[in-house]
Amino acid sequence: MKRMILIAVIAIVWQFSFAQGKTPVDTISRGNLTVILYNDKTWQYVDIQPSAVVSPKVDSSSITAQNWITNSVYAQKPDYARTKDTCIIDFGGDINNYNFPVYGKIYSRFGMRSGKMHTGVDIELSDGDTVVAAFDGVVRFAGWNNSGYGNVVVIRHYNGLETLYAHLSAVKCSVNQKIKAGECVGLGGSTGRANGTHLHFETRLKDNAFDPELVFNVQTGVLVAEKIPIYPGNFDYMKYVDNSEYHVVKSGDTLYAIARKYHVSVKQICDLNGIKETSILSVGKRLRLR
Ligand SMILES: [Zn+2]
Repeated sequence: MKRMILIAVIAIVWQFSFAQGKTPVDTISRGNLTVILYNDKTWQYVDIQPSAVVSPKVDSSSITAQNWITNSVYAQKPDYARTKDTCIIDFGGDINNYNFPVYGKIYSRFGMRSGKMHTGVDIELSDGDTVVAAFDGVVRFAGWNNSGYGNVVVIRHYNGLETLYAHLSAVKCSVNQKIKAGECVGLGGSTGRANGTHLHFETRLKDNAFDPELVFNVQTGVLVAEKIPIYPGNFDYMKYVDNSEYHVVKSGDTLYAIARKYHVSVKQICDLNGIKETSILSVGKRLRLR
């Protein structure tokens, strides 16, 4: 009987869906069975393990309880191994409580760009334009980043999703601040490694970036669906991306200072470079950090 109702619901939604590229338009859950409906009139069953479902939480302490790192844009290093489950990002009853960060022409999409992976979307704005939080959440990082983001804000949302806003001319929120969808996080700019003024916007799950267009229609700023499935395949690019990071030793550098600066352990640097904690660092040596 339940199955009959489910199929009837699918048929109704199916009738009203329209084809325009494959994006999920709705998700129907009955116990462990979840069906995802796409706008190209296809659907599929997903066997979702309860642990893989990212559910909305109302309590801010629960989202800051794990991996709450406030001095780095990453709470953990991005890792493909962390993507093996299909996740459903659930916006719950908060379906209308969102704001697209800034409206503008899309300069660059998520994907490979001149041989390098571009892990967000670049949106046109003018210097000083207000950039707003996409959803309610807590600010995990707010400040300067040396690896290209410039002035950047990272917000963790109540369903586990994180969003990142980069190249800001000014940051207008602070770490641990509770923020509402639509509240200003900073002003548009071109700080860091930016080719002209724009917002670089990322969506991340467990520190792994995925295409923001799975969450938003970036042209209209409309949320794609109330429940958004994210598949391991959405992170396949990570298999081909070299996430290594290096530091060239300067005069006066110590292993401890380098480790602290890049938020890695001394042991990790030693292991990656085949050196000991007591090894003398020669100026100009290229040390692998991750
Ligand atoms: Zn970008």
